[in-house]
Amino acid sequence: MKILVINAGSSSLKYQLMDPTSGEVFAKGLCERIYIDGKLTHKVPATGLKVERDIPMPTHSEAIEAVLSILVDPEYGVLKSTDEIDAIGHRVLHGGDKFVESCIIDEACKQAIRDCIPLGPLHNPANLMGIEACEKVMPGKPQVAVFDTAFHMTMPPKAYRYAIPTKYYEEDHLRRYGFHGTSHRYVSKRAIELMGKPASELKIVVCHLGNGSSLSAVADGKCQDTSMGLSPLAGVPMATRAGDIDTCVAQFIMNKYNMTADECLTMLNKKSGVLALSNGVSSDFRDLEAGANKGDEACQLALDKFCYEVRKYIGAYAAALGGLDCLVFTAGVGENGCTNRAAICEGLEFLGVKLDPERNKVRGEEALISADDSRVKVWVIPTNEELMIAQDTAALCGK
Ligand code: ADP
Repeated sequence: MKILVINAGSSSLKYQLMDPTSGEVFAKGLCERIYIDGKLTHKVPATGLKVERDIPMPTHSEAIEAVLSILVDPEYGVLKSTDEIDAIGHRVLHGGDKFVESCIIDEACKQAIRDCIPLGPLHNPANLMGIEACEKVMPGKPQVAVFDTAFHMTMPPKAYRYAIPTKYYEEDHLRRYGFHGTSHRYVSKRAIELMGKPASELKIVVCHLGNGSSLSAVADGKCQDTSMGLSPLAGVPMATRAGDIDTCVAQFIMNKYNMTADECLTMLNKKSGVLALSNGVSSDFRDLEAGANKGDEACQLALDKFCYEVRKYIGAYAAALGGLDCLVFTAGVGENGCTNRAAICEGLEFLGVKLDPERNKVRGEEALISADDSRVKVWVIPTNEELMIAQDTAALCGK
């Protein structure tokens, strides 16, 4: 079976053609600079083939057409015909409180995604464009939407409500939603398998640490709390996002520097985080580590702040769950950043977290990294959001 997984952004579109059962990736790639000019990068993992092509992409439709055409290309393709694609799974950012799980895309689903645009103004329009481009280019092909917010919909009101007047919740749906849900779901499910115990006996904290970072508290296999909020700006500091911040900081900056709310939010989303703390050295954790190793104090501060805030969330979630059995690291920094993982876990011995320094040297592969006498099992589990999307798509399409 072959599922095409699409992650459409405002000017880019990532794709993977994969088997949802084995997880084999037949081909994957990226369309960039949509609306500007257009560039396609296509890879076939089995042969190591990589092709780059400049293809005009005035809209998402041409990007999808370029993807389909390379997938059936006699030289670079992996399919004889696009009829071999059984269904398409789309990553959709914001499902609001309408979607607690993935769903087949029909008119009602598209309208619901459209209704969530005020909550996800940057991503939902792009996700819809990806869906509509596929409808245009492959009419009648079953499509499924998989929401970044869905896994977090099991949070209780005390976790998702903001302590602001009720009308903003009831009329405007302002509440904590959380993101990276597909990753948190995949990784926590895998952690439960690895722990070899019933979900009901496990209290898990998942640290998804990448360019964007979020933590979730999981009990009985269900999300109880998560660090991102109405938008992905909340929580720990990230590559370029500030994370949690006193709202008065925004008010002060807007007043003093005559900025609009949107301009201030762009600064908090794109020019803050570890990029800002390192005085602009980099948003990439490898560069920060290299800088800190050369004695750059700003790089060291950026890393210290990041690890400190992640550690605080782990402590908070252990308290929220009433205990901790399993701590999981995933995504770019979580899977590869050995030094970051060690710094995050430093001082958490009182909670029963003790890393094994040798085991913690692992990068990018599934491994237990806690010491044998650590009460809490600490795992590195590489995330695979595309596989989760492909599996949901196959299940919903009865494939
Ligand atoms: P995204 O949120 O865009 O999916 P990723 O999950 O791919 O991001 O994570 C990207 C981050 O992972 C980058 O900041 C990169 O520095 C970090 N990363 C990758 N390899 C390492 C490493 N060996 N050590 C520390 N950080 C790493």
